[in-house]
Amino acid sequence: RRYGFHGTSHSFVSKRAVEFLGLDKDNSKVIVCHLGNGSSISAVKNGKCVDTTMGLTPLEGVVMGTRSGNIDPAIVEFIAKKENLEIAGVMNVLNKKSGLQGMSGVGSDMRDIRAAIADGNEDAKNAYDVLCYGIAKFVGGYVAAMNGVDAIAFTAGIGENNIKMRKDVCSSLTYLGVKLDEEKNNVRGEERIISADDSKVQVLLVPTNEELAIARETLALVK
Ligand code: AMP
Repeated sequence: RRYGFHGTSHSFVSKRAVEFLGLDKDNSKVIVCHLGNGSSISAVKNGKCVDTTMGLTPLEGVVMGTRSGNIDPAIVEFIAKKENLEIAGVMNVLNKKSGLQGMSGVGSDMRDIRAAIADGNEDAKNAYDVLCYGIAKFVGGYVAAMNGVDAIAFTAGIGENNIKMRKDVCSSLTYLGVKLDEEKNNVRGEERIISADDSKVQVLLVPTNEELAIARETLALVK
């Protein structure tokens, strides 16, 4: 049993992916990449989430806007000694001053990172590459966890808008038979399949709708 965050989004997007692709819910393996200022990835098998990257707090998992994501636990002691900080100070660094912002030095917003990369900023490029690598690594792990995958869905600010990141992540997943259609991928914020017709795994973009998911759950509760 695990904790986690972004549950409403993962629930909404995984269900929508199954529906949109016409998969059999009880025989489906979906990976949802919720990539925004906070990012998390989930593995959803037969309609049930079996793993997710965030943990007891949103700090666990992939690199985020200002959060470090997974690190060696010994780094907590290392930073405390090096920066002369108490535990609260270290947690502040890991939650608010790390991730894309800490690595790039230009900010937490992916648009600023991309602009800096275009200007030749190597730290920004490094931060971008670390995120792409982390996403591909978790996706690979979840394919193993589910012993396969039918669909990979991208959502949230970066997942819905960053055409290049979707392309770069998918280029690390060709071993799974993932084949992106660059023309179909040339889209923002629209529900759409972005993989080629002969891709072994369907890749799609599903704009998340956490408000609708919350409204549906509330309705089910009061009925
Ligand atoms: P969210 O937390 O889901 O609102 O996502 C915020 C993240 O999405 C920020 O890093 C934004 O830079 C990124 N984002 C939003 N719009 C775009 C865009 N058009 N191109 C690239 N990144 C974007």
